[in-house]
Amino acid sequence: MNCPRCSVQMCIINVKKLINYHMHDILLEYEAYECPACELIASTIEQTADLQKQMIEKMGEV
Ligand SMILES: [Zn+2]
Repeated sequence: MNCPRCSVQMCIINVKKLINYHMHDILLEYEAYECPACELIASTIEQTADLQKQMIEKMGEV
């Protein structure tokens, strides 16, 4: 995947994101692409779907 802004090859990174849901902290961990040049972060359709699934599962446990 190349950066849409500067056409540099993007690297896969692991993103950790803490969100607050109904007074509970939920930690989401997912893969995304980051451009080493401009630090733009992009996700593929698969990565986005995986993140949404994770959110539904973790929010269901609250
Ligand atoms: Zn870029």
